[in-house]
Amino acid sequence: MSNLGPVRTRFAPSPTGFFHIGGARTALFNWLYSRHTGGKFILRIEDTDKARNSEEFLRVIYDSLKWLGIDWDEGPGMGGGHGPYRQSERNDVYRLYLEKLRTTGRTYEKDGAIWFRLNGERHTVHEKYKEDDGTEHDRIVERVKAAPVLIHDLIRGDVSRAEDRDFVLVRANGEPGFHLVNVVDDIAMRITHVIRGEDHLSNTSKHIELYNALGEPPPVFAHIPLILKADGKGKMSKRDRGALIEEYQARHFLPEAVRNFLCLLGWTPGDGREILPIADVITQFELHDVHQANARFDERKMAFFNQQYLRAMPAPAFAQKALSALHQAGLVDANASTDDAHIQSILILLQEKLPSLENIADMSTYFFTEEYPYSPNVRETLTKKGDPVARVRQLLPAFTQLASMDDATAIDAAITTTATAFAAKPSEYFAPLRYAISGLGSGPHLHDILRILGKERTLIRMDRFQ
Ligand code: GLU
Repeated sequence: MSNLGPVRTRFAPSPTGFFHIGGARTALFNWLYSRHTGGKFILRIEDTDKARNSEEFLRVIYDSLKWLGIDWDEGPGMGGGHGPYRQSERNDVYRLYLEKLRTTGRTYEKDGAIWFRLNGERHTVHEKYKEDDGTEHDRIVERVKAAPVLIHDLIRGDVSRAEDRDFVLVRANGEPGFHLVNVVDDIAMRITHVIRGEDHLSNTSKHIELYNALGEPPPVFAHIPLILKADGKGKMSKRDRGALIEEYQARHFLPEAVRNFLCLLGWTPGDGREILPIADVITQFELHDVHQANARFDERKMAFFNQQYLRAMPAPAFAQKALSALHQAGLVDANASTDDAHIQSILILLQEKLPSLENIADMSTYFFTEEYPYSPNVRETLTKKGDPVARVRQLLPAFTQLASMDDATAIDAAITTTATAFAAKPSEYFAPLRYAISGLGSGPHLHDILRILGKERTLIRMDRFQ
C-alpha cells in the first residue's frame, strides 16, 4: 500500500449540483486527516461531464469551503506540483494512461465508447431489460468471471468484491468517464488516502482493477458512513431542509459551529466532549475511529451548537457580526458602531438570548424603531388571562412618577403599588408591559429593556398601546 511518506488526501467534487452537507463532511474529513498527519489536502474538480457542470455550482463549492475554513494546499487558485486541478483541463494525462491500458490489451472499442477489459473467463447470459416505452425485452450480454478484489477499508474492514462486467473508460461522446479520470488523477496526484462516501464503495472494486491493470499500488480507502435524515428514513438529499451549506451562510450561522457539527456526523471525540475547538478535533481525528453506522442529521442539534458558539464568542466579535446582521435587516445604518454605548448595551442582552443571528431582527426590532410589530399570538395568550391594555393603563400613573427607568427597585415598587390598588398580583403586569413596549412575549429581562428604552420612549409606548 502506498501509505508510506506524507499523507495526501483529496476532495473531488463534481460541480453538478448545490454543495450539501454530505460533500462538506467528506471535504472536512479529508482535511482533518491531512491536518492530523501533517500531510497535504488537495482540491480536485471532477468536471468532465460538460453537460451537467456549471461554474455557478463551482463557485458555491469554493465559497462554502472557504466559509467553513477548509483550506486546500493544492488545487484551483492555489496551484501545486500536480496540476491542473480541473479534470476538464487534464485530457493529455488521461490519454497517456489510456494508451498504457491499450498497449497491454486492456481496452477495446464498442458502440463508439472505449471499454475496460476485465481479466477472466467470459460467458453470455440472457437478461431482461425495459425500453423507454416500458416494454420488456430479452438481450444477450457478456459476463466475466473475474477474481474478486479485496478492499482493505480503514473504516469498513476488508471487503471482497468481484466485478462481472467490463466498464466504460471513454464515453461515446469522447469525454473520459468517471472511473478512468478518478483513478488516473489519484495516481498522478499521488493521493495516499481516498476518503469518500460509502455510496462509492461499489466503484472501488472497479478502481482497484484499474490500479492493478496500470501496475500501480492502490491508495488506502476509507468509506465514510451516509448521512440520514433525522427520522432515519432515507439518505439526506439536496432537497431536504438544512442540506445546503449556503443556506447556513445566508442564515448567519457561525461557520465554526457548523463545522463542529459536521465533525460529529460519523465521528465522536474520544474525550466525550461534543463542542470542541477544531484544533482538538485535529489532534484526535483518526480514520479508524470513524463509525460504520450511518449518521443522522439533526437540525435542532445544529441550532443548539450555533447558539452555544454565539454565547461563547468574545463580546466584540459578537458585536461585529450582530451589527452587520442588524444592518442587513435595515435596523441600523451603515455608520452604526460597536463603540456606541447604547448599541453595546443592546448587544450584550441579545448575545445571551439569541438562538441564532438569523433571529436578531425578530428579537430586537423594538430597540431600534417605534414601528415594531406586535405578535398576534402573544396578544391572544395574554387576552385569555385578562385585558393587557387595561393593565398597562393602570401602570401608567405610577410609571409617570418614576425619575428614570434605571432603578429596578423603584420600578418594582411602582408595579407593586399599582397591583395593590387594583387588587391584582404584581406578576399580572409583567407580561402586558413587556408586550406593550416590545410587541413580544419573551426576551431579555424587563428591567433591562426598560433601562435601555428610557423613560420617555417607555411612556410613549405604554400610552399609545391599545
Ligand atoms: N466526483 C466524485 C463525487 O463527486 C468523487 C468521488 C471520489 O471522491 O472519489 O462523488
